[in-house]
Amino acid sequence: MEQGKRAFNFNAGPAALPLAVLERAQAEFVDFRGNGMSIMEMSHRGGVYEAVHQEAKELLKELFNVPAGYDVLFLQGGASSQFAMIPMNLLQPGKVAAYVDTGSWAKKAIKEAQLIGETAVIASSEAEHYTRMPSLEDIQVPAEAAYVHLTSNETIEGTQFQAFPNTGDVPLIVDMSSDILSRPLDISQFGMIYAGAQKNLGPSGVTVVIAKEELLAASPNTIPTMLRYDIHQKNNSLYNTPPSFSIYMVNQVLHWLKEQGGLQAVQEHNEEKANLIYDAIDSSQGFYRGVAVPENRSRMNVTFRLTSEDLEKSFIKQAEQEGFVGLKGHRSVGGLRASIYNAVPKSSCEALVQFMKQFQQQNS
Ligand SMILES: *Cc1c(COP(=O)(O)O)cnc(C)c1O
Repeated sequence: MEQGKRAFNFNAGPAALPLAVLERAQAEFVDFRGNGMSIMEMSHRGGVYEAVHQEAKELLKELFNVPAGYDVLFLQGGASSQFAMIPMNLLQPGKVAAYVDTGSWAKKAIKEAQLIGETAVIASSEAEHYTRMPSLEDIQVPAEAAYVHLTSNETIEGTQFQAFPNTGDVPLIVDMSSDILSRPLDISQFGMIYAGAQKNLGPSGVTVVIAKEELLAASPNTIPTMLRYDIHQKNNSLYNTPPSFSIYMVNQVLHWLKEQGGLQAVQEHNEEKANLIYDAIDSSQGFYRGVAVPENRSRMNVTFRLTSEDLEKSFIKQAEQEGFVGLKGHRSVGGLRASIYNAVPKSSCEALVQFMKQFQQQNS
């Protein structure tokens, strides 16, 4: 690719960041706001870094309209570490961890919980090869549940919940790694949500947790200190050295989201983008086939197939030659996937649709 030219980036994660954010970070990379050093070179105990850290927390609360009684944590180890930390902190003896099995990421979360304690899969779409989400009526909460865990957007299969089950007094914990801040949500329906930053929030290296303070306070003192939510909460996510540069980048992305008009505007933009690609699939007379059932189609990860694997290979090859990156489906499921997170511009989706039409003409 020509030096300086931006790719049509459909990577699944790490993924596209807003160009404006990258340029702002570049402008203050060497000398952060007249401090004579990069933000990466500063103490995390100093006022300059702490202001960035605090502002990132406040912006998250503001954008997501987080109610009082919730706190925001910045942790490390990715969403994958949360798969273990959640049961370690929140699965009390005598209770059961209830999981909704929606696909690849849900299965990984279940596997970790099983290592920690009593775990139940209360609904699953495995029999339908994860082409859909279980219906909300099928998600029945057992009386002895410590919490219910589900995955709002299955990044690999390309399915997404458009609404969430009412779990009553049992906390609902949601892995939002691949769709956090892509739409407004009523946060009060969740006990906890979490996301690795590298899809919709910034670069890799930081995991955001938003949870009710009473859940964060419930950690047993028998687990390692670094794995305790209460320790991180009491220390404002500064118990040890935080991933300061990643948090600074998240701060920049949050400013950018606000400039886009907040989550309502972001959602409309995301729907337009997704509709462009799904319309191209649906109007292709079977040349392209969507993987997910229409009512559970993800607006973040559009998964689709061609009529043969050879044709898929040739699609990917030709797309790469024309500047499209990341369209190959996850190795575990094959096919094609366009990840169109918040930062992917509509113009990239329009270019993809044009390419899909051209490829169809040449190959049918
Ligand atoms: C990417 C992803 C993860 C894993 O995130 P890491 O930060 O790499 O641990 C977990 N859940 C979902 C839904 C994801 O998309």
